[in-house]
Amino acid sequence: MKSIQDLIERLRATGGKVTPQRLFLFRVLGSATNHPTAEELYETLRHELPTLSLGTVYKILNELVELGELDTVDSGDGLTRYDPDTAPHAHLRCIRCGAFQDCPLELLDVKTPEHINGFVVTNQRIVLEGYCATCAQTKPIGLPNSQRTRERRTPSGC
Ligand SMILES: [Zn+2]
Ligand SMILES: [Zn+2]
Repeated sequence: MKSIQDLIERLRATGGKVTPQRLFLFRVLGSATNHPTAEELYETLRHELPTLSLGTVYKILNELVELGELDTVDSGDGLTRYDPDTAPHAHLRCIRCGAFQDCPLELLDVKTPEHINGFVVTNQRIVLEGYCATCAQTKPIGLPNSQRTRERRTPSGC
């Protein structure tokens, strides 16, 4: 996503109106690294903009997607998230708390061919699932609680 000033100029050039609602949304999105959903953006903004509706949030988001300033990301949990970073990158989703983070492609050993058996690749979406740094620290991973309890209760003589 471009700077707010660039966005305003782009919007004016395409005949769009620069409303306070758009400006607020641009500002929140510009600093968002958590890939918010339309509902989350609405919740953040509606206290400052009591006249804002969820429909308007969707409308402004769709405009930005059409302008190529915003990407939609299917996070695999049924939610559509919005990403101001339109450069190619992968994502990390925590299966415990739902945190959704960016992952630079350089960290992955992935080479996507432009053609696969006649199939022309135009886009790639990579979402790695696991535990975020916070969740990975709070509980041991890979051993569900019930399983550990069962092991502990097994009589030693059997
Ligand atoms: Zn987490
Ligand atoms: Zn992202």
